[in-house]
Amino acid sequence: MSSTHSGPNPGGPSSSVAVHSAGNVRKINFCQWCGGPTKHEIPDGEEKIRAICTVCDKIAYENPKMVVGCLIEHDNMVLLCKRKIQPSYGLWTLPAGYMEIGESATEGAIRETWEEACAEVEVLSPFAQLDIPLIGQTYVIFLARLKKPHFSPGPESSECRLFSLDDIPFDSLAFSSMVVTLKLYAEDVKAGQLKFHYGIINKKPGTSPSDIHAYTLDYHLQS
Ligand SMILES: [Zn+2]
Repeated sequence: MSSTHSGPNPGGPSSSVAVHSAGNVRKINFCQWCGGPTKHEIPDGEEKIRAICTVCDKIAYENPKMVVGCLIEHDNMVLLCKRKIQPSYGLWTLPAGYMEIGESATEGAIRETWEEACAEVEVLSPFAQLDIPLIGQTYVIFLARLKKPHFSPGPESSECRLFSLDDIPFDSLAFSSMVVTLKLYAEDVKAGQLKFHYGIINKKPGTSPSDIHAYTLDYHLQS
């Protein structure tokens, strides 16, 4: 089962891997609406410390972000992009990124694939939802196929490549979420049936944020 995390990420914000200050309410020092200074207190009737504006009294609630992406199958291979941006520069990832206001999860996954791999894809089915409570992110990854057999690196990628399952660079992936997604996918393919997976990625306590293999996959449900 999941465990509860609070406080700053143990690796600290100087880590080379994405550390989002989700839940780190003390970093909010000014009101996003009026610019007034904030105080950090537990509002009446609540349980968590929040940043509260001392001028307009509005409370800054922080909520997890949704990361959407595509697992693209082509000729028994999957498409990966080598990151040309930090964090995780030079490491491989599925095309994925933050969902924007005004778009659906599928639209976001298709857009990110176009931006990172210059590939036009059709989404086929949901493959995985992976929650990462520590950093306040939820990944939704869709199975997809190329509409045309063309792809090339977009501005955030230095290379895009199809990998057979045996060649997936598990030691050079950008994020734990990618390790989990691609492991589940490889297991499903070998078992002859793709499933939908839900799970919680929990960082092993005391490990470096850059150690993408130092996690447990908890509450794994599949259908
Ligand atoms: Zn205010």
